[in-house]
Amino acid sequence: MPPSRVHAATILSDPGATPVSALPGVGPALAETLARLGLERVQDLWFHLPLRYEDRTHLTSIADLRPGERAQVEGVVEAVERGFRYRPQLKVAITDGSQQTLVLRFFHFNRSQSEQLKPGTRLLCYGEVRQAALGLEMVHPQYQRLSGDEPAVVDELLTPVYPTTEGLGQKRLAGVIAKALALLPQDAQLELIPTELCVAHGLTSLREALLYVHRPPPDAHLGQLTTGRHPAQQRLAFEELLTQHLSLKRMRAAVRRRHAPRLQGTGELRQRLLASLPFGLTGAQQRVSGEIAKDIAQASPMLRLVQGDVGSGKTIVAALAALAAVESGQQVALMAPTELLAEQHLQHFRHWLTPLGIEVAWLAGKVTGKARQQALQRVASGAHVVIGTHALMQEGVSFAQLGLVIVDEQHRFGVQQRLSLRDKGADHESGLVPHQLVLTATPIPRTLAMSAYADLDVSAIDELPPGRTPVQTIAISNARRFDVIERIHAACLEGRQAYWVCTLIEESEQLRAQAAEVAHAELSSALSDCRIGLIHGRMKPKEKQAVMDAFKAGELSVLVSTTVIEVGVDVPNASLMVIENSERLGLSQLHQLRGRVGRGAIASNCVLLYQPPLGQLARERLQVMRDTNDGFRIAEKDLELRGPGEVLGTRQTGQLSFRIADLARDAHLLPAVQEVGAVLLAHHPQQAEGLIARWIGAAARYAHA
Ligand code: ADP
Ligand code: MG
Repeated sequence: MPPSRVHAATILSDPGATPVSALPGVGPALAETLARLGLERVQDLWFHLPLRYEDRTHLTSIADLRPGERAQVEGVVEAVERGFRYRPQLKVAITDGSQQTLVLRFFHFNRSQSEQLKPGTRLLCYGEVRQAALGLEMVHPQYQRLSGDEPAVVDELLTPVYPTTEGLGQKRLAGVIAKALALLPQDAQLELIPTELCVAHGLTSLREALLYVHRPPPDAHLGQLTTGRHPAQQRLAFEELLTQHLSLKRMRAAVRRRHAPRLQGTGELRQRLLASLPFGLTGAQQRVSGEIAKDIAQASPMLRLVQGDVGSGKTIVAALAALAAVESGQQVALMAPTELLAEQHLQHFRHWLTPLGIEVAWLAGKVTGKARQQALQRVASGAHVVIGTHALMQEGVSFAQLGLVIVDEQHRFGVQQRLSLRDKGADHESGLVPHQLVLTATPIPRTLAMSAYADLDVSAIDELPPGRTPVQTIAISNARRFDVIERIHAACLEGRQAYWVCTLIEESEQLRAQAAEVAHAELSSALSDCRIGLIHGRMKPKEKQAVMDAFKAGELSVLVSTTVIEVGVDVPNASLMVIENSERLGLSQLHQLRGRVGRGAIASNCVLLYQPPLGQLARERLQVMRDTNDGFRIAEKDLELRGPGEVLGTRQTGQLSFRIADLARDAHLLPAVQEVGAVLLAHHPQQAEGLIARWIGAAARYAHA
């Protein structure tokens, strides 16, 4: 049989499962490139959705260009300049009927390219307009030369822009996708969600939705498609959210099928620790502690997230869980996202547990040489509790009997890191995996928690210890900085302590440290009769600890710091906080920082210094901070203003990168996603698998490889 007939036969039986190499024009080289994008079967191409769209359906006059927008322009080359400032570049000035000039700037170009772009050449170009020093420009626009007086032909449809990889241009990829779409079957064959559920939840045709997003019709508006609210996009977003939900549930089920050591001691250590505390647990702490105790007494691994606003007292709850493990002869690993925070846990745990005869080992990245060898040795031979940073997950760390993993401030770790520590603790002989407790101070809106943490059970410590007074917050322009410094002065003379936080966010640790040093010098000279300390990420752990200790002991009145103090730092006597450039920070970060004060009974204040003029978003954020101390309300607002990637802090790890869904925009779909998900898992497991294979199949195959 000739090869083409073989292909035709395969395609007919199950077009979606057909390898891409069966498509006409897809040879081995192209198939390999597509595989790098995870595109191996025809259905992978159907579900390879555009990232965005380009509007090349009309021309924009150079006079009407606006910075930040993408536009298509037709013009004639007026002048060409080759320069070598820092690196070779080619600047091509074009002009059009509006008599205005636009500069096309290239940093990568070859000789023939620069020779082709001679004055007088007519060009059709498309790119993002930027404001440069001397006017508007486009960097590396796409362009095409127009010969003679050939009129520029504009597109009739919006152009989808797909995620792609090196060596695969948009046109070629779009061409392959078009061939795949020609094989798209009718809904009856395509749909994996049972018809009655589609009807019940108003889900429209999947086939039409796919065709629409790949080939928006002539009447589609860029604006409408960009917001993602078109019914076709919503239909696909629903399915994608459903799939993510199913995959987390499946991951959870896989873990739950494994066995964990039962952590159930006599409760004696617990009694002794509680008796030694200067306070009693709040009702919420008791409840959550009980939920954890019940979970870890089981032989299947606990997967629990404890949410609690800053200062709600999560640490003691974690310590109590650790005691149950220790009583059962198992080790506990506690992992924190920053060294400062890990050190603080170390102090608390040693303070609480050493009197009970429990060994608490320390293992951070900066523990090196002999000390590290010793620590590793202690961990391997069974130190009860091991506290550290990510270093706990590194090669060469092996535990004797890891029964419980506690991850603090989980939003800084991705799902992958979470899993990695779990795997690390898995005992290959016994097949046991540790229980897992995740602590987060970022109150996650319910809808988001349901989706992002569908693999975890959630407990909330929704009550603050008694005697806390809410922090009074005000926003003050940097122009009144001097008044603020005066105010700190007065407070310090009354014996109060203050934090002064410098916030350079996007720059390097070195620049952040410098900014803090400058502020430290400024405050030291303005408040010469007060003692001012400085702490930043570039200091050695010992130095940081010495400064923290001095501040805790009340020897320093003011602590100037970078955002290293953002998470977890606990000095109950500090009652004043100044946050510089507060307009640059997101809500949850502001809330975390503010959470450093208001921990004692003294009334606390927070000053948000800002640099005017304030943009709309910054204004709203500062207003929210003034209005409320409620972490949940702030998180809801944050989700609304910034989107879930930021709220969860996982933008970099990409764990929540969707092709089409957007948790903030599509949160209204989540209740239905849950319902449909539950029915599929219970009654249609095959379909659930099909959805996972469809949306994340390729990625999952890679992850397992
Ligand atoms: P977070 O939840 O932000 O991690 P911590 O565990 O650091 O909070 O607790 C904040 C402070 O409150 C600590 O000083 C801790 O000792 C104290 N604390 C915890 N629980 C209680 C309680 N039930 N009553 C009084 N103080 C408490
Ligand atoms: Mg904490």
